[in-house]
Amino acid sequence: MLVLLAALVTGVARFAAGAEEEAPTGYTDTPLLPGSRWHVHDGSRPHPQAVDPGTFSSDQQPGKPPSDATILFDGRALDAWQTAKGGPARWKVQDGYMEVLAGSGDIVTKQKFNDYQLHVEFSEPTPATGHSQERGNSGVFLAGLYEVQVLDGYNNVTYADGQVSALYGQSPPLVNASRPPGRWQTYDILFTTPRFTGGKVSKPGYVTVIFNGVVTQDHTELLGPTVHHALPTWVAHEPDMPVRLQDHSMPVRFRNIWIRPLSRAK
Ligand code: MG
Repeated sequence: MLVLLAALVTGVARFAAGAEEEAPTGYTDTPLLPGSRWHVHDGSRPHPQAVDPGTFSSDQQPGKPPSDATILFDGRALDAWQTAKGGPARWKVQDGYMEVLAGSGDIVTKQKFNDYQLHVEFSEPTPATGHSQERGNSGVFLAGLYEVQVLDGYNNVTYADGQVSALYGQSPPLVNASRPPGRWQTYDILFTTPRFTGGKVSKPGYVTVIFNGVVTQDHTELLGPTVHHALPTWVAHEPDMPVRLQDHSMPVRFRNIWIRPLSRAK
């Protein structure tokens, strides 16, 4: 027990003295990981960057984004957004959210991204009006081309590959995790951008969606850009593309939008 206590005290003292005085960790007598230049438990393998993960959102207030996120909308202004043609975004901004201004067009981020984690919160119009695709329709277009459907999915029947959290026209969600209209709902989306070689798709894109904390798309392979009433056909594009939000003429609200490009050391 005494030995254990002494070890603990030494450990605390070492921690307090700062990382540079800590004993080295890891091993050098272990096998190489397949396809890697690092050994199992390799002490010289670079450490991941420390990130403050922020906080979760509640209905009353948006959470705090992770410290390394690029903020796309913090409730105050549409500075990060523009129209598809590059003009000023005209969606309404008030009380910490933006709202689709019917007829003003889709909005796209000024910045372009590939391979990312995207966090989006939305709230459906209340009282609910219309049915099927005519109830609270909007969308989050990854790379500006691949739609994760936004729709009021609460007591609203529509075709499966068009419901909220579907990859529109391609893949229904695993479950319908909708909250009622007027409540804030969250998308946490992981997107692997498709890659093209010589104008042809060489690696398809993949989409994972966590909707209100529930997995609804599990590394789903994209078939091509979103189309209506037809089969998609791949169209080559650069890896870096904007995020697009859809004006489907319905007053859907958005708040707390942030993105974290994903890259890892090899
Ligand atoms: Mg839509």
